[in-house]
Amino acid sequence: MALWYDEVINDQVRFGLKLKRTLFMGENQYQTVSVVETEAMGRALLIDDLWMTSEVDEKGYHEMITHPAMVTAPKIERVLIIGGGDGGTAREVLRYSEVKHLDMVEIDGMVVDASKEFLPSIGGSAWTDPRFHLTIGDGIEWVNRTDLEPYDVIIVDGSDPVGPAEGLFNKSFYQACFDRLTDDGVFVTQSESAILFLDTHVEMVNLIKEVFGHAFPYYRGVFLYSAGPWSWTYASKKIRPENIVDSRMSMIEDIAEIYNRDIHHGIFAIPNYVRRRLKL
Ligand code: SAM
Repeated sequence: MALWYDEVINDQVRFGLKLKRTLFMGENQYQTVSVVETEAMGRALLIDDLWMTSEVDEKGYHEMITHPAMVTAPKIERVLIIGGGDGGTAREVLRYSEVKHLDMVEIDGMVVDASKEFLPSIGGSAWTDPRFHLTIGDGIEWVNRTDLEPYDVIIVDGSDPVGPAEGLFNKSFYQACFDRLTDDGVFVTQSESAILFLDTHVEMVNLIKEVFGHAFPYYRGVFLYSAGPWSWTYASKKIRPENIVDSRMSMIEDIAEIYNRDIHHGIFAIPNYVRRRLKL
């Protein structure tokens, strides 16, 4: 009999894929980490039994979390990723030759090791890029450091608001990110599903707006996050998502699988039922 794995989203909803085999299973003080092989989505990473990313659809997530910030921030020399242990966001950031220094602070070395070994195409050449500096540690502690040079872009590619990621969803964390950015720096975080986790999404966007003065949520489907569009939220002290640097947009349009100028303009449209709850 074929083996299926279902992510249990709540007591009414599951999202499953048929498994060919399990490649890795591990557990530590933070979470469980697994890599499985599927026919439909290639190899896939699960954390705490929740689908995180897969070879087939990872670009739909990693391009979306990365490029809106990278094509609009006036400078992109110093970039920080919090989380992102599969390496996909780092790979996308490092496509820009203007990036001189990328810090990635991932709490769980097991995610990095399993991704390097079993999902090597996701991080690709990021792992050996001399501009890439990986720290295994807590991203919340990192952004609360006052001895860091400010960042031009901060991207929070964290997991859902349980366990080590819980503190990535509160106002003091967003304030610390604000404090670590340059005056015209850009912040982006994944901000959950506006369908399955609407309250969490709305609360995040409203808190980010309280800290930054503006918040721009954006939406696009990712196959593995099964309930329709996923969301990310963009914020900056000064910059708006319309501030496209044309040379960067042209460069990335030529090589990205999904992201382009039209998608950039379309994704910032907010559904009415969400807009009514946002204090924008
Ligand atoms: N892109 C996928 C998604 O959103 O579902 C996968 C993201 S996965 C790479 C998120 C990563 O955030 C995990 O590897 C997890 O270990 C890491 N993480 C969670 N809390 C963290 C924290 N406080 N500091 C740094 N990394 C954290």
